[in-house]
Order: sequence, then C-alpha cells, then structure tokens
Amino acid sequence: MAIIEKKSDLNDLMVEWRHHLHKHPELSFKEDITSDYIASVLESYDIEMHRGLAVTGIVATIHGTKKGKAIGLRADMDALPIQEQNDFSYKSIHQGKMHACGHDGHSTMLLGAAIYLKQNNNFAGTVHCIFQPAEEGGGGGQVMVEEGIFEKFPCEAVYGMHNFPGIAEGQFAVHDTACMAANETLKITVKGKGGHAAMPDQCVDPVVIGAQIITALQSVVARNVAPLKSAVISITMVDAGFVSNVIPNEMNLTGSLRYFTKEVGDEVKGKIKDIVEGVSQSMGASATFESIPNYPATINTPKHAELCANAAGMVVGKENVLRNELPTMGSEDFAFLLNALEGAYIWIGNGLVPEDGPVGGCMLHNTQYDFNDEILSIGSSYWVQLVQNILK
Ligand SMILES: [Zn+2]
Ligand SMILES: [Zn+2]
Repeated sequence: MAIIEKKSDLNDLMVEWRHHLHKHPELSFKEDITSDYIASVLESYDIEMHRGLAVTGIVATIHGTKKGKAIGLRADMDALPIQEQNDFSYKSIHQGKMHACGHDGHSTMLLGAAIYLKQNNNFAGTVHCIFQPAEEGGGGGQVMVEEGIFEKFPCEAVYGMHNFPGIAEGQFAVHDTACMAANETLKITVKGKGGHAAMPDQCVDPVVIGAQIITALQSVVARNVAPLKSAVISITMVDAGFVSNVIPNEMNLTGSLRYFTKEVGDEVKGKIKDIVEGVSQSMGASATFESIPNYPATINTPKHAELCANAAGMVVGKENVLRNELPTMGSEDFAFLLNALEGAYIWIGNGLVPEDGPVGGCMLHNTQYDFNDEILSIGSSYWVQLVQNILK
C-alpha cells in the first residue's frame, strides 16, 4: 500500500518539483540551481542539511523520535549533454542539456520521502538523505566517499534506487547480488612504420594490424570467458591516418570493457594484452595497451536486498517485486558507495513501452525519455516504508 497517496498534496508538490528540475537540467558537478532548489525545499520544511560535499552534494538528516541506528538513502541529481526532443510544457530550457536518465525523478522521490519522514518521524534512528552530484561519468559518489561522507554521517547501510523503462509502472526489481557491471576504458596504440601508400612493403601498416586486433578481440569473451560468466568488449573509436596516400605511423583504438567480478576482469585484460602484443609483434609492430577503471561493479548485499524487496512488496504487493531479472552490463557510480558500506540498489519500473509513443518505456539516455510522474508516489512510499521497516 502506498504510504504517500497519488491523490495527496505531497504528490502534487512532487510533480511540481520534478517538472521544475526537468526544465532546468545541469551537468555533473555543475548542479548549482538544482542543489539550491532542493535545499530551498528542504529548508522550507525545516530539515537539517549539510551542503558542499562533492561540490553540489546535499546530505539532509532526519532524526526519529527514538534513538537507533542510521541509514543512508541516495538519489542522483545530474543531467546529460543531450538535446531534448520532447515537446511538453516542462521540457528543458537549457540548450543541449536534458534529464534523460530520470535523476530529476530520483531527487524528487527522495525529497518527498524526506518531507514525509520529517512530518512523521515516529521511527528509531536517523535517516541521511544523500543528494549526489555527477552520476553520469563524473563519479560523484566516489568523490563523496573520498570527502568522508560516511565519517561525517556514519551509516549502517546505504540504499539506492534507479528507474527502469521496460519494467511496468507499479513494479520493482531487486537483485540479491550483482546488479550493474564494472566499466573500464580500453586504450590500445599500435606503432608501425608509416610511408607511401603505394609502397606498403617499405612500411609496417598499423591500420591492417589494428584491424586484425579488433577481429581477434571478438574471440576473447566467446572463447576464453566461461559461458555462464559475463563480460563485454566493444571497440568504439578507431583513429589513424590523415590522407589517402599515406600509411600512418600509428593507430589508436578505444573501447569499453564490462564485467562483474575481478577474476573475469583480470582474465579478459590478460587476454587483450596477449592479443594486442602478439598480433602486433607477429606483424612487425609494437603496441601498448591500458585499461582505465571508471566504475566498479554494483553488487548488493543479499541481506539488504531482502530488506529492500520486503519494503517494495509492502508498497506494490510481493508479486510485483521481480527477483529474477538479469543484471545489466551498464554501470552506476552507486558502486562506490556500496564499496564503502553494505547496502542495496534497486530498480523501480518506469513503465512498459507503449504502442503509441515513447513515454515511460522510452529507454534511458534517449532524446524522448521522460521520468514517469505516476511512479513518484510509489518510489517515495518505498523509501518511507524502508525506513519504517529498518528503523523500527
Ligand atoms: Zn544515465
Ligand atoms: Zn541514471
């Protein structure tokens, strides 16, 4: 049962806040207007807050009427460098910036929950509502941890939630362990010997060698990783040459590596290195390879996943909490918070793909994506239920 009703003053306010945030999207670590807006709402309800962690981050603290442990609830605040193609009244007025991942909705649901909890604080303990900047590639979660968020605001566990298009409105998905993959950037440089395109015998052509490497890399996941384990290698950028009649000296390849466990990640990187060096040497070139870590894998703790599933089930019914959804190879910087503390990260359904348009089911990062207002009361009720259950 929803604690915050769809027909309520608080829900009406949440819709208003969500539309305001959607209309004014800001990029990673530049969430100034966003942070000020969230802070002004918190302030109007007399909620204690700390500002400035990871530049624009906010930690809002609500104390229960009795003493007890503390937990953290986290929402992300940043938008993406995308030109919005929607045409509703609250579409982005910031050129080239868009809330295409629903972080406007995440911040709003946490804001709604914070206000409800402030007004109904009959729980035992403390809730820290974490409004985090820079999820979209900036690693704001990592910066908050490095700046000591959990020393300043000690928590027993931390919880996250992301909307997921393709999962029905009124459903949640909870993973017991792995939820999102680790993400690294692959950088390969093949150093050959440039020269005249008409005299390839006088050269070591890095383009041909790079092409062989790209093809050979396709066998790593298919032939070296155990079939029931997961990894992805995608070469996404190829850079060599400048004119049609010159064989260049170098070819640079850039790509993305995804995996869940260190064991698989290390195995894949070892094979990539072997292929890069082996193919290059056999064809007379030299090569370098490095893999730069971006986000670690988001791995839930089963105990906390269970608490999340129970709370979600109390809001939408147990049958609407999906427990066997596969994780995705996408990644999420909540992983840094889960590396610092136990906890869990769950998905809330943003809606199925409707036949007549993209809203709700439209995939994240699409120019026509929009967060579904119908789930604001569901998500905020889930946060409140989780607090009521854990801080009994
Ligand atoms: Zn995103
Ligand atoms: Zn996101």
